[in-house]
Amino acid sequence: MVLADLGRKITSALRSLSNATIINEEVLNAMLKEVCTALLEADVNIKLVKQLRENVKSAIDLEEMASGLNKRKMIQHAVFKELVKLVDPGVKAWTPTKGKQNIIMFVGLQGSGKTTTCSKLAYFYQRKGWKTCLICADTYRAGAFDQLKQNATKARIPFYGSYTEMDPVIIASEGVEKFKNENFEIIIVDTSGRHKQEDSLFEEMLQVANAIQPDNIVYVMDASIGQACEAQAKAFKDKVDVASVIVTKLDGHAKGGGALSAVAATKSPIIFIGTGEHIDDFEPFKTQPFISKLLGMGDIEGLIDKVNELKLDDNEALIEKLKHGQFTLRDMYEQFQNIMKMGPFSQILGMIPGFGTDFMSKGNEQESMARLKKLMTIMDSMNDQELDSTDGAKVFSKQPGRIQRVARGSGVSTRDVQELLTQYTKFAQMVKKMGGIKGLFKGGDMSKNVNPSQLAKLNQQMAKMMDPRVLHHMALKMSNWSGV
Ligand code: GDP
Ligand code: MG
Repeated sequence: MVLADLGRKITSALRSLSNATIINEEVLNAMLKEVCTALLEADVNIKLVKQLRENVKSAIDLEEMASGLNKRKMIQHAVFKELVKLVDPGVKAWTPTKGKQNIIMFVGLQGSGKTTTCSKLAYFYQRKGWKTCLICADTYRAGAFDQLKQNATKARIPFYGSYTEMDPVIIASEGVEKFKNENFEIIIVDTSGRHKQEDSLFEEMLQVANAIQPDNIVYVMDASIGQACEAQAKAFKDKVDVASVIVTKLDGHAKGGGALSAVAATKSPIIFIGTGEHIDDFEPFKTQPFISKLLGMGDIEGLIDKVNELKLDDNEALIEKLKHGQFTLRDMYEQFQNIMKMGPFSQILGMIPGFGTDFMSKGNEQESMARLKKLMTIMDSMNDQELDSTDGAKVFSKQPGRIQRVARGSGVSTRDVQELLTQYTKFAQMVKKMGGIKGLFKGGDMSKNVNPSQLAKLNQQMAKMMDPRVLHHMALKMSNWSGV
């Protein structure tokens, strides 16, 4: 069972609590059974599933709990907490230091996704402004250097490798030396793999590691092997000093639950997950936001990270406006432009409460972009007065002729324009609420100014503003548009 399905099944089990008139032992057991079945189908280790069930049951004392609403909340919270535990290794992950030369070495079996993931990680840091490079120390697989070279060239990342040198230790050492001299901050070394865990592979790994003294050894794990992940991760950990794990191929048909919980059980912190073959199909892994997203509850922290990546602090004017709860159509247009710059749209939507799992499937990516482009085309036909009005929707409702003009100009129906305005109103309301939380946008760096309780409040408010039914409706409408 793929991850999105797992999320849907657990959400539906949790929802059954809200539908029950009274919550008793029977209802609780039925819900837990549904959750556990879903986890087992996703290949989560039976021992871990049993533990989860026990923990939830012992955390809940139905006799002692007062009102129905409270019971529901507490049970749902207990399940959420246990799900987080399942993917949490309880170990803090290594992070690079700015201004220092961070050497990251990749290890893993052949075909697990090392070379692809090296490029993804390099691209990730490069976009965040780190001076980043790639080294190919895989002399085992034919074409390995070409593969890395191709990826690096596409993403404009400096690289190093050799067609003639056969000793990976020499290539790795030379490359690291060269890039260290050039003051690179993130130096990523790709190594070769074997089809099986062989002594020769481990020997080579150790030699390379000894020569370049990496700050972080990343073990790349293919999710499609399910529960076997645990044994394999352990085998690698025993041989080299693995500091973090990246789980790949969590798209498609991987029983992701198995891989994530198995790896976490080895006390290896998962730092990123790979969700496709493209360089953008890559997400930082944090346990709580991951579970929230899985259950369609949104990922406010991730959203804040993404918003910060946009360097909103360069845009003082917008921050000033947001602080006062103002948000014009032009602001929305510029935000859409930013989102398109930011890359995978589905990732962003997935972080908004209510969108969650519906947008986790990859197939929607292009559609989402097309929808966004369509909205922007409509706004392209608006004039400055309309775009810059602090209440754009009112300008239109006062003079409906404007709607017809914009529709004609952008080649859509008046209904489409109205839908856009409705959507804008919702966004603007949300922004107003967010601006109302004191200090949220101060300095443009949200995460620094938001404490956990504010974050919870923001989450609540967004969830309220973005009522799942409204969003669902919106999504339907938007998908209708893309067909126009
Ligand atoms: P390596 O032998 O460990 O270097 O593995 P590669 O990076 O060459 O990847 C092996 C195959 O897995 C390639 O076809 C990749 O495109 C594919 N791959 C890697 N990561 C992912 C992922 O997250 N999702 C999917 N669907 N494919 C991936
Ligand atoms: Mg490779």
